[in-house]
Formats: sequence, structure tokens, C-alpha cells
Amino acid sequence: MNISVRKNLTLKNFSSGRPAGIKYIVVHYTANDGDTAYANTRYFKDVYRGASAHYFVDEKSIWQCVEDGDIAWHCGTSGKYFHSDCRNTNSVGVELCSKKDKNGKFYFKEETVNRAAGLVAYLMNRYKIPPENVIRHYDVTHKNCPAPFVEEPARWNSFKIRINEMTKGDDEVTERIKMEINGKSFSVDRILKNDKNYIALSDLRGAGFEVGYEAKTKTPSLKNKAEELAVIADGELKKVHSLNIDGYNYIRLRELSDILGSFTADFENNTVVIRTKKQAILSENEANN
Ligand SMILES: [Zn+2]
Repeated sequence: MNISVRKNLTLKNFSSGRPAGIKYIVVHYTANDGDTAYANTRYFKDVYRGASAHYFVDEKSIWQCVEDGDIAWHCGTSGKYFHSDCRNTNSVGVELCSKKDKNGKFYFKEETVNRAAGLVAYLMNRYKIPPENVIRHYDVTHKNCPAPFVEEPARWNSFKIRINEMTKGDDEVTERIKMEINGKSFSVDRILKNDKNYIALSDLRGAGFEVGYEAKTKTPSLKNKAEELAVIADGELKKVHSLNIDGYNYIRLRELSDILGSFTADFENNTVVIRTKKQAILSENEANN
């Protein structure tokens, strides 16, 4: 599952900040006929609409309109709430672009549902949201939204089964994090797969490593040019687990840091710091002096 999100953030239709944290994901439909995710973000961009959502999904793309850390106006009501806890303040709103058939009935394209499932699964992993907290707008206010999932609950059910499967075991969550090795900062792609962290091999060039890959033996290698710290290969000197996803190589972060020294990870703040053994010895000596 690869999630790619582009942003066109609204300037007017959100409340800044989110003191309550994120507990729910609320699924909606746009009630349009063949609209695009991007066009929706344009609509909400700089005119006050009194409504919004965090994400819009069509069959080709995902566009973000409101940052996760801000409140979008997607499931509020001046009427009665049918959910005891879910509100705009503690939820992320995901809108699926819709189509109308010749009888005027709304439906979703299969690709749109696939893409939305990937996004929802990603958000569930990211914010530790349990499956029962992924709900429809209908479940909050009884509005007929998303109509295709309200009028045909079996479809909603299969969407839920799908996202549950996607969040179990074999999931991949990709994000860009900051990494620091021996005081040198750079950015790496991090993948969370089966609860293990992997980082993109090629990004380690940013820390002065020499990165290689031997196609014949399918062995990634990593060499610290300056200090000859470590050579990493699946067979030879040190063993690390690696993944190849879409032609890019990723290596286990924990195993890399065990070879290099010690590390502290703060994924909440997207930061990993590795102190190599050499640096640790240096600072111990410095402490002794
Ligand atoms: Zn809705």
C-alpha cells in the first residue's frame, strides 16, 4: 500500500489546532457527479463555505484540504447527535468523490474506494484508531452520507473488512522522517512493516554513507566512507533484513543502529537519532577528561 497525498490547504474553512486528539475517522461522499479531489480543495480553498473535510479522494488521487492537526467542519450539526462521542474536534473527515448512474443513484468508482481504503488504513495506523472508530457521517448525525454506504450497508461492511485487513500484519506506512547520525541531519523515507521500521537505503547518502546494491546477489551494501564504520550486506559481514519495494531498497532501522551504535527514536516527532560507537567512545573519553 503506497499512499500519496497532495495538499491544497483551505485558508478559511477550518479551526486551528486540535486539543482533543484524533479518535475517529468519518467517511463521507461529495454528492457530486464525477468531481475530482483537487476540484474540491479548490472549492474550499479561499472562500468561506462553513464546511470542509481533511481529505478528498477520487479514482486517481488524494488531496488534503485541512491538516490532520486542525479541525475540519465535516460532521457537526445544530440538530441531534446520534453518536455519543465523535465530533469534528476529535475526528478526521475523508470525502469520497462520487458518480451518479442513469437513475440518479450515487455510486463510487472501484478505484476511488480502493484509494480511500488505503488512506483510511494509513490514518488508522498513524493515529492508532481502532476499526470500530471508523464510521460514516450517517453514524454521527443520521445524514444520508456517504449515500452509497448508507443505502447499501453491505458495501460499507466490505469496506470495513478491507481496511481491517490492510491494517493487519502486512501493512506498509511510508513517511519522511528526520534522522541524525553523529550530529549530521538528513531526511529519510521510513516504512513501518509488520511493526518493524525500515529506512530507505539510498537516503543514507545524506549522512555520508556509500550506498550500493549488488543486483546479482540482491545484496544492499552500506559503507561509511569517512570512518570505515561498517559494511552491511545480507550475506557477508553483518546481517540486516532488507525489503525491496517498487525497486527501492529499505533496511531495518533497529539492525542498522545496532551495528552503528545506539539510537533513540521519536516517531511522534518524526525524528531518529543514531549515535555511533565511535562517537559514544569519544564522548566517554571527553567525560573522563
Ligand atoms: Zn458527510
